[in-house]
Amino acid sequence: MVKPAQNKILKCCTNHSAPLQRTFKFRLYPHHNQQKTLYDTLGACRWVYNQMIEKIRKEGFQSRNDLNYFLTELKESEPWLYDHHSKMLQMISTQVHGTQKSLIQLRKNGHRAGTLKFARFQEYNTIVYNQSGFCIKDGFLQLSKIGRIKIIHHRPIPENHIIKQVTVSKSKSGKWHACVVVDIDAILPKIILTKSVGIDVGIRNFAYDSDGYQTPNPLNLQKMLKPLIRAQRKVSRRQKGSNNYKKAVRFYQIIHERIKNRRKDFLHKLSTQYSKKYDTVFLEKLQKLNMIQNHRIAGNILDSGWGIFTNMLDYKCMVVEVPAKNTTVNCSRCGNSVQKTLAVRTHRCDVCGLILDRDHNASINILKKGLEIFKLPQELREVTPVEISMRSRKQEDATGQVRQ
Ligand SMILES: [Zn+2]
Repeated sequence: MVKPAQNKILKCCTNHSAPLQRTFKFRLYPHHNQQKTLYDTLGACRWVYNQMIEKIRKEGFQSRNDLNYFLTELKESEPWLYDHHSKMLQMISTQVHGTQKSLIQLRKNGHRAGTLKFARFQEYNTIVYNQSGFCIKDGFLQLSKIGRIKIIHHRPIPENHIIKQVTVSKSKSGKWHACVVVDIDAILPKIILTKSVGIDVGIRNFAYDSDGYQTPNPLNLQKMLKPLIRAQRKVSRRQKGSNNYKKAVRFYQIIHERIKNRRKDFLHKLSTQYSKKYDTVFLEKLQKLNMIQNHRIAGNILDSGWGIFTNMLDYKCMVVEVPAKNTTVNCSRCGNSVQKTLAVRTHRCDVCGLILDRDHNASINILKKGLEIFKLPQELREVTPVEISMRSRKQEDATGQVRQ
């Protein structure tokens, strides 16, 4: 999987000093002793993390320097912490500080935000090596104080690029992965609005685009429901804490992971297909939280993963979300409003006589709305990403004001 780390291409266009970052995820195969060391390291990190949270709970906000100073104090009282890479431990204070700050920001924005919680054994699954303490060579990942772990390069890391960070993570079913962050210098292509498409996402058809292509929903969860229920039943019949219980839980988690992987695979393939074919993708802005209140379709909505799909498209090409109002109701040819319930699958217009699939009609409306945002319905021309980002930001401001 290749994914630029948490960046939006548009943001990078406006700020040329910050290079693009790319993350490569590789599978790790640690042998028995190394696994033991990795578990020990995870335990040490979790202990430090929980100590820091206890301090914050007692004494309130702590700056990063405070936390680092606290870490040195901890090291003096607990000398076994010297067995672990120091920069890795320092990254925990960066992490805790970041969460603290985002919680404060959430409260400022008027959201409800809880307090920092202690991490349980099952919840703490990552170790971060930043800037130092790692090396990748000859199919092995060398980690300071842990050792040389076998790594599978299923795709090459670009040569002459400096590796910034390595994150080692453990999945719930016990697989180990390394996420390698690399700085890359890429030239961003021009975005041409003529190569744009409107997509209507739904439950029956996962995606129906304005060019008339439809992709059925794979319904990954529904297909795996039978083995999942069987595994769940096994877990509940075993005696809690026994070896058979642990075995059953692990099997249950493997099935969950398989569902997750299938969903991710499907979404990656579909979003890559669209990003290769088109430059701009218009989607409707969905109120997912309101939609899942309908319990009959809630499971299918959550299983579809529309949010992940939008995120994936967002870093592969340009995504513009348009307001969803009246996209299914309006006729895409004449604009006449044709009311229909969820069960009616075909759009029939009495005024102009247009007969079209309901979702196809909606996707054409989405494309039209999207092009209207840029005020380019007739003359389509080439624009730079910066221009678009400015326009869409203005648009966002305008719509935000209207709502308030
Ligand atoms: Zn019509």
